[in-house]
Amino acid sequence: MNKPDEFRHVCYLWDDSVAGPLDPVERLRYRSNILGADQRISNTGGGNTSSKLIMVDPLTGKEVDVLWVKGSGGDLRTARRESFASLYLDKFQTLQEIYNRADVKGAKTEVEDAMVEMYRHTVFNLNPTVSSIDTPLHGLIPARHVDHMHPVSVIAIAASRDQERLTHEVFGDEVGWVPWQRPGFDLGLVMQDQVQRNPNLKGLVMGQHGLIDWADDDKACYELTLSLIEKAARFIESRDKAERTFGGQKVAPLDPVGRQQILVRLLPRLRGILSAKNKLIATWQDSPPVLEFVNSLDAPRLAEIGTSCPDHFLRTKIKPLYVDWDPQQDSFETLLEKLETGLARYRADYTAYYEACKHPGSPGMRDPNPTVILIPGIGLIAWGKNKSESRVTAEFYSLAIDVMRASEAISAYQGLPRQEAFDIEYWALEEAKLRRMPAEKELAREIVVVVGAGSGIGKAAAQRVAREGAHVVCADLSFEAAQKTAQELLDLYGVGIGVAGSGISGSGPALGLGVDITQRDSVRAMLEQVILAYGGIDHIIITAGIFVPPDLDGMIPDEKWNLTYAINVAGPFILADEARKVWESQGLEGSLVLTTSVNAVVAKPGSLAYDTSKAAANHLVRELAVGLAPLVRVNGLSPATVVEGSSMFPRERVISSLHKYAVPFEEDEDTDRLRERLAKFYAQRTLTKSPVSLADQAEIAYLLISRKFSKTTGQIITVDGGLQEAFLR
Ligand SMILES: [Zn+2]
Repeated sequence: MNKPDEFRHVCYLWDDSVAGPLDPVERLRYRSNILGADQRISNTGGGNTSSKLIMVDPLTGKEVDVLWVKGSGGDLRTARRESFASLYLDKFQTLQEIYNRADVKGAKTEVEDAMVEMYRHTVFNLNPTVSSIDTPLHGLIPARHVDHMHPVSVIAIAASRDQERLTHEVFGDEVGWVPWQRPGFDLGLVMQDQVQRNPNLKGLVMGQHGLIDWADDDKACYELTLSLIEKAARFIESRDKAERTFGGQKVAPLDPVGRQQILVRLLPRLRGILSAKNKLIATWQDSPPVLEFVNSLDAPRLAEIGTSCPDHFLRTKIKPLYVDWDPQQDSFETLLEKLETGLARYRADYTAYYEACKHPGSPGMRDPNPTVILIPGIGLIAWGKNKSESRVTAEFYSLAIDVMRASEAISAYQGLPRQEAFDIEYWALEEAKLRRMPAEKELAREIVVVVGAGSGIGKAAAQRVAREGAHVVCADLSFEAAQKTAQELLDLYGVGIGVAGSGISGSGPALGLGVDITQRDSVRAMLEQVILAYGGIDHIIITAGIFVPPDLDGMIPDEKWNLTYAINVAGPFILADEARKVWESQGLEGSLVLTTSVNAVVAKPGSLAYDTSKAAANHLVRELAVGLAPLVRVNGLSPATVVEGSSMFPRERVISSLHKYAVPFEEDEDTDRLRERLAKFYAQRTLTKSPVSLADQAEIAYLLISRKFSKTTGQIITVDGGLQEAFLR
């Protein structure tokens, strides 16, 4: 056993001062969290842990043995107490009798899947957490604590051609080996049998899959897990092929700027092609190990073999699409051509795989497009229904690359037989898991850019569309304000599963960016960041605007006219003009919302520049609707004065308005109170007699980009409480 400071390939995190005061279930939670914190020990959502604990039975008041095991679908790193299922150990173990009575039994038989339903009969203390298909691995191994992990270094051994011999060479007699078998009750029995025949075993390498090991003390179990992984990693390290890894370099790498320039052009095109049925969100990765792989001689051969660990290929599909492109020799157009032919071939291959492997009653064929695309010079691009899913897919393929590197260093890498892969991918239990997932929210696959998201209507709109599941880019002249809104959204909705690792683009469902919409370069740079974060753009809501008050004598000097028009009219045009290129490249439906004003149609003294700029913005809506049809709908949101939280209503302007309309107020009242007085005054002038709020505006901004308004373009929707003089004609 290594001492804590001797681990070089995994992080030793056990801390007695933390674990000491915890109850036994919390110690299991703690052990799980620190195991899951290191991707070299287990991937996101992968692996499981268990403890057999003596507890008081609520029915009898007597002490019973309870199996606590990580529930289905949870993640070790983020597991909480509620993530663990609890089963009466003796009742669980008697399930063997039912299983053994079946005439036909073994891996992938009907009785094996039926056992999963039986687990519920053994639940201890009404614990509602659903136990996973790996439960028998834990329940049928006699040791008190069991860890089942997916460590890169052990999968590398398990995915090698001579895996059994390697297991013995690396671990000697303390770790056994079991050939690949789909996880389930039968695999638990196979392991139980191994332990009965060899009571000195401390663990097993699971062919094409991972590691399982055990001990009667939880800290000892944790340390054993780390020691075995460390041992495998050192063995691999001593045989590393260095520059000869993956057969050596075939393509010279591009510099980071060059890579990003290509991605900015490529991602919207690719997103459009892959999103024909359902929109997808991208994550790309260009960490040194990923680049080493995609630039190598062996990449095409190894990519074709596919991923090995079942957890990996459920996300990455059985294989990625490798595009044979040389960034030094070939043009961008060649890349597009090769992608098109590669995708067509991939879809044909996938269909052939489905047809060859399907059983009567298999679920229908899923999307035949790849979820991982490998491009020499560029890196890997992963796709998923949202940022979290594509990020995990990128994580899994980069772990698969680490596995292949290690496996090819010590032996020859091999994939799972296609039929076995199919029987996992289209397993009725996996299908049931997919069906249990909550329905997707309306904007779940959409990328929405809100310009002006730092405050007022823009901030409210960003919050509103985030509630519908959108990926929200909060852009604002003030980078800090944009970041603040984005961070609030991330705090509220989380970044999703998976950890942002090295070279992984974008972090979560919200992003804050600075932009000056009067400057074309600034707009272009902002949109490029959006593409790099998510792969494209669907909708843009522009709420940025300015009211420049006239001079004290009521005059509006030329520079105030210019500033007003630059922000309220030219800015939205520049944004639309730059976004048009992205929309056209994607070829997907999108929408644009401009915020104008009821002032656009009400003539009155005092705000000539502002009012005429908004009248121009109203017509800009119509012109853009014509120009961007049929791909992009363009509509205007026309608020009456929203005083609440508006950056256009600083204290002085509120006070001067209150004076102007002779509304009584006290000089020492705070600004929010004064704004409320003004809002009430404005409300009295409306037909509905109610003040208009930020939420009222945000609701319409959301509706205009939603499918509910899919047949509306070129229109101005007024949200003003009902101002007769602002009726549109
Ligand atoms: Zn596993």
